Amino acid sequence: MNTTSQTTPEDLRSWLEAMPKTELHIHLEGAVPPDALWDLIRKYGGDPIVKDPADLRARFQYTDFANFIDMWAWKNSFLREYEDFQFISEVIAENLADQNIRYAEIFYSPGDFDRHGLDPRELTVAIRKGFERQSHRITLNLIADLVRDFGPARGAIWLEQIAEVKDRGVVGIGLGGSEQAFPAEPYRQVFERARTLGFHTTAHAGEAAGAESILAALTELKTERIGHGLKAASNPALLTRLADMKIPLEVCPISNVRTGCIARLEDHPIRQFLQRGIIVTVSTDDPEMFNTNLAFEFESLHSVLGLTLQELVSLAFNSINAAWCSDEQKKHLQSELKHFIS
Ligand SMILES: [Zn+2]
Repeated sequence: MNTTSQTTPEDLRSWLEAMPKTELHIHLEGAVPPDALWDLIRKYGGDPIVKDPADLRARFQYTDFANFIDMWAWKNSFLREYEDFQFISEVIAENLADQNIRYAEIFYSPGDFDRHGLDPRELTVAIRKGFERQSHRITLNLIADLVRDFGPARGAIWLEQIAEVKDRGVVGIGLGGSEQAFPAEPYRQVFERARTLGFHTTAHAGEAAGAESILAALTELKTERIGHGLKAASNPALLTRLADMKIPLEVCPISNVRTGCIARLEDHPIRQFLQRGIIVTVSTDDPEMFNTNLAFEFESLHSVLGLTLQELVSLAFNSINAAWCSDEQKKHLQSELKHFIS
């Protein structure tokens, strides 16, 4: 199938599944398949309100963004030991490789596991061990998310620890968490230090909070990319700025619906972003918590928002171009995608 042919929905789905893909915004802790999470829940003595893996799916539905964050914390309570991280990392790498994802940048949030006494350095090593078992099939880099809720003082400590294991494929520093409650400004110096240490930077902004949060990420944190950027749609001057600065957006359409940040996929501003010349990339965010995958995201953008196959392919190329991998790796990813569509 080429990008101009008429096609059935089934053909399109198969084609998108077969397409070699790149993903830039996916959280390790949100990508644990239910069966693997169930194994961990059982390891730690079970949970009275979850009887089987099917119950997990039912729990992963949210009334709003705050409720999603609560569920996120509940799930993370079953990740307690380094071996848990090695286990989920291998499962996740295998799952992504099965989807023909060739390269991904994966967020992980070391601070969330401080309460279990896990050190960010050893945590990083454990994750890398899991990834290495699938390294013949998929290349994975890490972005350490400092999570706003913990504050910049702890973030600064974790940053220095993560820098010690930077050579384990940690390419960037991110800032997620409760954006609506914790603004970006206090992290200005932490992000300046991250750049000095040679990290790329991104921040979740304009997902649960407004356009001012995106402006703060750009001006205070000076991030190279923006996670989500959804609320930029309400501010024409900001749209122009994002386009002029060539700041790629890590757009996660299904996530935005599932967390209630938008009511329906029909309301997503991705087409507006494209028309304004903004570099848009597409990712899943927390695929196993949102019952999505990258092929489904692309398929939905086509079937619900009318993006053409050519537009989907250009989004796929955008992800490669905005990736924080080597030039050699980018050329390889580009040539494989070119070959697939020719
Ligand atoms: Zn995210």
